[in-house]
Amino acid sequence: MRGGMQIIVVGAGLVGVTSAYRLQRAGHSVTVVEREAAVACGASQANGGMLTPSMADPWNAPGVWRELLHSLGHAEAPLLLRPRAIPSLLGWGLRFLGASTTRRYGENTARNLRLAAYSVSGMDALRREEALEYGAATRGTLKIYRDAAAFDSGLRKSRTFGHPLVEVRALTAAQTVALEPGLTDIEGSLAGALHFPGDEAGDARLFTEVLGAAAERRGVRFLFGTAATRIIADKQVRALATTAGDMPADAIVVAAGSQSAALLRGVGLRLPVAPVKGYSLTCEPSGTDAPPPLAVPVVDDALHAAVTPLGRRIRIAGTAEFTGFDLQLSPPRIENLRRLLRAILPRHADRLLAGNVVSWAGLRPMSADGVPCIGPCGPAGLYVNAGHGHLGWTMADGSARLLADLVDHRPAALEPRDYSPRRFRWAS
Ligand SMILES: Cc1cc2nc3c(=O)[nH]c(=O)nc-3n(C[C@H](O)[C@H](O)[C@H](O)COP(=O)(O)OP(=O)(O)OC[C@H]3O[C@@H](n4cnc5c(N)ncnc54)[C@H](O)[C@@H]3O)c2cc1C
Repeated sequence: MRGGMQIIVVGAGLVGVTSAYRLQRAGHSVTVVEREAAVACGASQANGGMLTPSMADPWNAPGVWRELLHSLGHAEAPLLLRPRAIPSLLGWGLRFLGASTTRRYGENTARNLRLAAYSVSGMDALRREEALEYGAATRGTLKIYRDAAAFDSGLRKSRTFGHPLVEVRALTAAQTVALEPGLTDIEGSLAGALHFPGDEAGDARLFTEVLGAAAERRGVRFLFGTAATRIIADKQVRALATTAGDMPADAIVVAAGSQSAALLRGVGLRLPVAPVKGYSLTCEPSGTDAPPPLAVPVVDDALHAAVTPLGRRIRIAGTAEFTGFDLQLSPPRIENLRRLLRAILPRHADRLLAGNVVSWAGLRPMSADGVPCIGPCGPAGLYVNAGHGHLGWTMADGSARLLADLVDHRPAALEPRDYSPRRFRWAS
């Protein structure tokens, strides 16, 4: 073990904060550099709030090109490609499509599944060890289907890509409603549901905050309002140039989400991680003590979206839009989520949407093959932990543990080659 290094982590989202925590626990001196004023101001701020090894499959499934082509000009399509984003996506997009063959999709799903299961299996211990309170719920998730053929294919898919730690139960409409009475109003329209009891949920921003606080208590230093501008390196990392001056470092971990590629370009590396925009609406009903209408998060696979209870609040999150780094809120995309809420909770939707509703958009850092990039690349001492796409919370702690093992040259629980940034030819 190479304990006692000075390590700088760039980015204080889910991935940066878990990385900093695990590296500090491994005996290093860790500083987190974050351009915003607090943790979780990027993609980790108001996400779907689920930890879902059950959704480990990358979004570039076979035939995804058809769905993307079809979306052109349809502002309400759940998976939407904006024509103006096409030039910036050329290299990444070809790789994205190249990874959508049946064989590569299968391999990449298996890689994500192993990492997601490894990650979520450690959450209980982490929660207890640091007394983390973030509204953790362990009732699993429900994936609902209105169409019998889609239900069959969903069940087949989850059995094909099985993992010993990812239990799945196929439920009839009646069994679904018995498990989640909040779905009673739509029982008649359900073909069935898949229940994944091992999935978890909670408030991802709160998790990042409380884990950040635990890391700070253990000695991690956070520098907010400080942007990393350049990695200073020859054959070895020397320092990080920031808006607050140069900071010497033995190692640097780039965990800057969808901005990671921009920082790495300065040392001649082209990380194929692109932003894929998603939305959420968080509804806080006003003036009522009524219990939340759902207890278990409900996923609508066809809409790439989910409804998650977060204490008194209900969050509807999802849909995917290829539109570069644009964070504007587009009304048709917000309407998609309102429609989903009405389709899942018809009796409660109007009340929820009439309360205090916070609309939000975030950029998922999506790697070209749908598997995150974790490990060394470029000059000695440079590491990446980025590109977790729609699974950043699901994979955060497992990715951080893998990263810490790689930094210390310890045997890892997962095969490092599966996640190495060097699997892309750009890396030296
Ligand atoms: C709508 C939506 C729903 C989602 N739902 C789920 C879900 O239910 N479950 C799940 O597992 N995942 C979900 N995700 C994905 C998950 O939120 C992301 O994968 C995750 O937040 C990525 O975390 P990150 O730390 O890599 O990136 P971020 O959270 O974006 O953090 C990167 C940080 O780096 C900082 N930064 C960037 N550049 C610099 C620089 N040069 N200097 C200093 N700081 C810098 C940024 O300010 C930011 O704080 C969802 C995403 C979206 C958008």
